Amino acid sequence: MFEKDAVALVTGAATGIGLETATAYAQAGCRTVLCDRDAVRGAEAAERLRAAGHDALFIACDVADAEQVAALHRRIAETCGRLDAACNNAGIEGETAATGEASLANFDRVINVNLRGVFACMREQIRLMLPRRNGAIVNIASVAGLVGFAGLPAYCASKGGVVQLTRAAAVEYGDRGIRVNAVCPGVIKTEMVNRITRQDPAVEAQYAAIHPMNRMGTPREIADTVVWLCSSQAGFVTGQALAVDGGLVAR
Ligand code: NAD
Repeated sequence: MFEKDAVALVTGAATGIGLETATAYAQAGCRTVLCDRDAVRGAEAAERLRAAGHDALFIACDVADAEQVAALHRRIAETCGRLDAACNNAGIEGETAATGEASLANFDRVINVNLRGVFACMREQIRLMLPRRNGAIVNIASVAGLVGFAGLPAYCASKGGVVQLTRAAAVEYGDRGIRVNAVCPGVIKTEMVNRITRQDPAVEAQYAAIHPMNRMGTPREIADTVVWLCSSQAGFVTGQALAVDGGLVAR
């Protein structure tokens, strides 16, 4: 349940988990702001939501650029006047290479988007939420923020950092009406995963098998968790890193 006229923001909303989360917020009755660095697909996604009868707005923004992040949130303040829920989802997988072979350039790129980008967004979101002493932030981390995955040192570091940013802010703002949680997805079938598996059925079966439920997750399973965490039904939940992973980290 959301307040009347609630406003929700999703970064990286042009496709995948972000698009599904924007759709779920809109279906829950929120005025939904979609942000992505891909202006063409982002605008098309917002247009599809409007055509389905929802209140949706697209604002282009690269979360790795703090100026653009500030401008995004200024625009939300001017246009919507409030922010009730935010899902910091924009992220990249980067290159696959073990630590000894991995490049510093890839490390910087992945950290800039996945960790610094989330931090830059959270700062702005908290400033928007504080006057009303009401808001919920959900950061999309990963099971790679909870356990190690070979070949993805920068990605694992960025997602572990997101989990800790989440906990720090939850502790800081718990008494001022702002809840902050992270969702840690297992492998979810999106364009990101298709880039890695190349949709080869044998590789997809290997990815499915790392989950005790022996399948990949769907974007909707993540989106529904995000919307629940932002709703009043999760009113006493903060500071959590919730794995939505078919049992992967329970092994
Ligand atoms: P995706 O690649 O399918 O979509 C990512 C979206 O984010 C794209 O629209 C892209 O344009 C946008 N984006 C990327 N960098 C951006 C930037 N700097 N600024 C603004 N937008 C940007 O990815 P996905 O699988 O939907 O993943 C979404 C999030 O979930 C990521 O943070 C990812 O790390 C995380 N995650 C994904 C999986 C998975 O298996 N798919 C698992 C765990 C965590």
